[in-house]
Amino acid sequence: MAAVFAAMWFKGSGRNPSLGPEGPPSPRGEGRNINGEAVKDEIAKVRAELEARLAQVLDAAALEAARVEFLGRTGGKVQALMDRLGKLSKEEKPAAGKAVNELKAFVTALLAAAKERVAALEQAKPAVRPDVTLPGRRPRTGRLHPITQARNEMVEIFSQLGFAVAEGPEIEDDWHNFVALNIPPEHPARDPLDNYYIRDNLLLRTQTSTVQIRVMEQTPPPVRVIMPGRVYRPDTVDAGHSNMFHQLEGLWVEEGVTFAHLKSVLAMFVEAFFGAGTKTRFRPSFFPFTEPSAEVDLSCLLCGGQGCAACKRTGWMEILGCGLVDPAVLKGVGYDPEAVTGFAFGFGIERAAMLKYGVRDIRLFYENELRFLEQF
Ligand SMILES: [Zn+2]
Repeated sequence: MAAVFAAMWFKGSGRNPSLGPEGPPSPRGEGRNINGEAVKDEIAKVRAELEARLAQVLDAAALEAARVEFLGRTGGKVQALMDRLGKLSKEEKPAAGKAVNELKAFVTALLAAAKERVAALEQAKPAVRPDVTLPGRRPRTGRLHPITQARNEMVEIFSQLGFAVAEGPEIEDDWHNFVALNIPPEHPARDPLDNYYIRDNLLLRTQTSTVQIRVMEQTPPPVRVIMPGRVYRPDTVDAGHSNMFHQLEGLWVEEGVTFAHLKSVLAMFVEAFFGAGTKTRFRPSFFPFTEPSAEVDLSCLLCGGQGCAACKRTGWMEILGCGLVDPAVLKGVGYDPEAVTGFAFGFGIERAAMLKYGVRDIRLFYENELRFLEQF
C-alpha cells in the first residue's frame, strides 16, 4: 500500500518539475521551491511516522489515538499539511495539493487496515478461562433438623420392634386430652394456667397420650404403635423448658402383655438410641392413665454411672415415664381389661436428643442458628 502511494506521489511530482527531485528550479526562486520540497519531505515523514505508529497499535484505544493524531481536524498532521498548501506558489499548489490528498487517502486506508487488524486481534483474544486449580465452592445443602433426625431414628428403632406410627390432631378436645386418660375435672393438670385453652372444650394438646385414645377407639386390639408429635404447655421458657416441644408416646395392647415386655422394649430402645451398654433403672411413680407406673432413668451418658455434675452425682438421668395401661382407660375405649393388657410410655424427643448429643439448652433447637444446626 505504501509503495502504491509513493509511486503516485512521484508520478505526480514528475508532472510538476518544480516538485520533482530532478525538476528544474522554479523561475520564482528558491524560496518557493523549498516550500514545495518541504511539503514533500513532510509528507514522506508523516507516512513513515504513521507506519511506525500503526505497527505498535494493538487495541482500539491506541488506534483511536493514532487516528486523532494523523487525521484530527485540529492539530492532525494531515490537516497541518493542508493548512500549509495556502502558502505555496500557484505552480506548486496543484501538485502539492494532490500529493497531500493522496497522503490523506493513504492515511485513511492504513487506519482502516489497522482497524480490521485490531478487531481481529480482539476477537482472537482468549475468553477468560476458568482457573481449574482454584478450590471449588461447595453449595450449601440443607439437612434435616436435629429433632427430625432424632425422631426418625426413634421411629426406625421402634419399627424394627414391630411398632407402627400413628398421628393425631394438635388441637384436642377435653375428652381425649383428659377424661379418657383418667384425668378427672378436679385434677390440677386441667388448670387453665397449665394449658392453652382455645374454648372450654378445646385446647392445644399437652401430651401425645391423646393419640393412644384415638387409636384404641378406632382399632380393636392388638395395637402396637408409637405416636410422635408436638405438644404445648404454657411453661416459662428456659434452658430445660419450652412451651412447645415434641413427645414420643408408645402403646402396646394385646393379650398377655406384661411389665416384662415394657422393660425389655425400653431397654432395647435405650441401647439402640443412646448406645450399647446404656442401662435403665425403673422407679415407682404415678400417672393417671397407667397402673402401676414408673419413671425410667438412663445410666449417665457422660460419666457412665460414676456420678458427675451433669447427673447431679447420682449416675442416672431421667428420661421417660411409663406403666401398664390403667384398666379404666381400656374400658373407656371399649376394650375388655380382662382379655387384654398393655403398656404405655412417653418421653420428650428434645430431652432425649439433648442427652444423646450433649446439648445443654433446649432453646438452641428453635433458634435456627446455623452454627448450631450444622453440627448435626
Ligand atoms: Zn454423670
